[in-house]
Amino acid sequence: MSFIQHRTLSRRGFCLCCAAAAGFTATGGWLSPSQAYAEARNIVDLIRDDAARAPIKLHKLRRDVSILEGSGGNIAVLTGADGKVFIDAGITASRPRILEAANSLSRDPIRHLINTHWHFDHADGNTWLNAEGAAIIAHENTHKHLLVAQRVEDWDYTFPSSPLAAVPSQVFSLDMTVELNRSKLALKYYGPAHTDSDISVTFPEADILHCGDTYWNGIYPFIDYSTGGNIDGMIKAAEANVAAVTDRTIVIPGHGQPVSNKVELTEYRDMLAAIRDNVAKLKQQGRSLEGTIAAKPSATFDAKWGQFVITPDFFTRLVYHGV
Ligand SMILES: [Zn+2]
Repeated sequence: MSFIQHRTLSRRGFCLCCAAAAGFTATGGWLSPSQAYAEARNIVDLIRDDAARAPIKLHKLRRDVSILEGSGGNIAVLTGADGKVFIDAGITASRPRILEAANSLSRDPIRHLINTHWHFDHADGNTWLNAEGAAIIAHENTHKHLLVAQRVEDWDYTFPSSPLAAVPSQVFSLDMTVELNRSKLALKYYGPAHTDSDISVTFPEADILHCGDTYWNGIYPFIDYSTGGNIDGMIKAAEANVAAVTDRTIVIPGHGQPVSNKVELTEYRDMLAAIRDNVAKLKQQGRSLEGTIAAKPSATFDAKWGQFVITPDFFTRLVYHGV
């Protein structure tokens, strides 16, 4: 992974999902997972190192909801007398800067943490947030994945099981409503999408929707087939997100510029559906993966969406795998 790519990652929100892909962009082609891994040496350590340096940017949204940007996925924080509620935990190395930013909002202790899914760049901080006093809530598949070692093929990485303190103590299968700080938090399972553990978190009073990694704002998304994700599920989740919001809703993506809206979300859904159709047609014609990539089925979208580390070729491969 080159220095420039590394810096790009830190500016855009460093994501484990993307780090492995840097191996692909480095050579302009597709490396085997073990080659990519060898190139990146240890992806998890690189991400930890990056988070140890990256600043945390604070965005105040509406009512008592804010976003902390700069430690893996976008973290939402709800403040109030019942204690802070975190949506996602970011990366452990950011702890002092996350605490500093959160303390600048209020001195309420951190009492709850909701994980949008099991991935490292959203749940690595679970242990320290639990030590601060946060009870962890998540989908039952997040619980399942954190409890035992997880192999992610596209990262060529096996995550060890998490310490018990990092494993959610409250889980649900379809939906769940939590009432804290005079706000409802509506948690809803997407079904298999980016993984098989993705949930949305809606703040109805503030009219805010946190989509987790079912939505990447302005950049091609990662899809984790190793733990149950697939392209059709991603499109279904994007459709559910579009249907759930109005022109006034603030939409929080898992990655990319953290304050988004229905127009950008709709454009994202349309991009996913169009590329899926293009790739499916080529595959039905009998094209190999290499032949499909060579046909550039995402060409009309690449200038806008292909500027992050999920490159057009890598995204085409992810879609090809699922159609
Ligand atoms: Zn993810």
